Amino acid sequence: MVRVRFAPSPTGNLHIGGGRTALFNWLYARAKEGKFILRIEDTDQLRSKPEFVDEILNSLEWLGFNWDEIYYQSKRFDIYNKYAEKLLQEGKAYREKAPDKDGEAIIFKVPQKKIKMQDLIRKEIEFDTSLIKDQVLIKSDKTPTYNFACVVDDAQMNITHVIRGDDHISNTPKQMLLYEALGFPLPKFAHLPLIMGIDGGRLSKRTGATAISDYRKLGYLAGALDNYLLLLSWAPGDNRELIDINEAIKLFDITQVNKTSATFDLKKLGWINNQYLKNVDSEKLTDLIVPQLVEKNYIQKDNFDRNYLVSLVKLFQPRLSVVNDFVDWADFLFLEEPKIDPIAAEKHLTKDLSSEFKQFTEKLLALKVFDIASIEECFRSLVSDLGIEAKTLVHPVRVALTGKTIGPGLFEVIFYLGSVRTCKRLERFIK
Ligand code: GLU
Repeated sequence: MVRVRFAPSPTGNLHIGGGRTALFNWLYARAKEGKFILRIEDTDQLRSKPEFVDEILNSLEWLGFNWDEIYYQSKRFDIYNKYAEKLLQEGKAYREKAPDKDGEAIIFKVPQKKIKMQDLIRKEIEFDTSLIKDQVLIKSDKTPTYNFACVVDDAQMNITHVIRGDDHISNTPKQMLLYEALGFPLPKFAHLPLIMGIDGGRLSKRTGATAISDYRKLGYLAGALDNYLLLLSWAPGDNRELIDINEAIKLFDITQVNKTSATFDLKKLGWINNQYLKNVDSEKLTDLIVPQLVEKNYIQKDNFDRNYLVSLVKLFQPRLSVVNDFVDWADFLFLEEPKIDPIAAEKHLTKDLSSEFKQFTEKLLALKVFDIASIEECFRSLVSDLGIEAKTLVHPVRVALTGKTIGPGLFEVIFYLGSVRTCKRLERFIK
């Protein structure tokens, strides 16, 4: 049975790279009906923090990568010590006292030879271990090193496939030597390509090296982020870009993962998120938006017109890149007076349109039926009577009502604002 693991160190939050590694492990386990194991590599007692463990677990849950088993390395020190002792007894390791430290470290005698790794993604890679120094297994403070604990655990946990980032390639020969010394069978290896920033450099804060939990806070949907993480190193074929990870299970093949590095493109992620937002259930989207509106004091927690809110959400839904756009773009529907963007005002509200605005408000108030079609009809007949182009009035009215140059259709905006609020806002510009 396939058994794979994701092995984060809780010395920081789960980032894009870790999220992608977790996804590919989860996907492979599900594709092969195997097990997905989570191993918290918290051997560094100073830098590992419980809050990072929580953050990582929450992010994995949010992304939908449910694990079958979970282990903490900090609870397994006895096991690592036992195997280190074994290597000592067999003469494959030795003790050494560091000049400035108290205890003794246990060090692995690295055999010198050429070894070949068969990588499922990168194919064959050859290493010359004569370039590798003897390796510390247990540090003088009695804690195990990453390479040693990793090998002991991968073997003890019967991991069949080690799927991890390319940045670990240089560790793999060291680990292979340890498998051999300990008499453990080798797992298969698959190294995922590096993720670069759009500027061609390493992924940085500026180019998107943000915690998964921050993407969540920024208003990305888990499904969209999953889809994007998948595309970073694999394609379902037929130039298809939108694919649910649960659907990808059927199509996924680890040997078809890209060898070349991936480029993390926030614009592309925004596009994918927008596609998902268009299709997400408006009621669910409303649930995500409500807390943000409450926080802004735009609505009161248990006292708002949900039906009205859902229709507003539907109105904005096709345009949103992130959930959070709604609060920014729809603010004018919740505020007593819209926040007028000075650049928009400069562009569209400097000309005196008192007479046009006045006539429009009169016509609106006289409407017998106040629906989108009648509002449009009323507006069109006015511009035709005035002999002006629609746009000479559309933009100024929009800015007066919403404070912005962008947004949903003007007639929808008027409909949802209602005739009273619409007229009140236009009157502010009637001299
Ligand atoms: N704790 C290591 C890391 O976070 C795990 C590497 C591995 O998957 O072997 O990079």
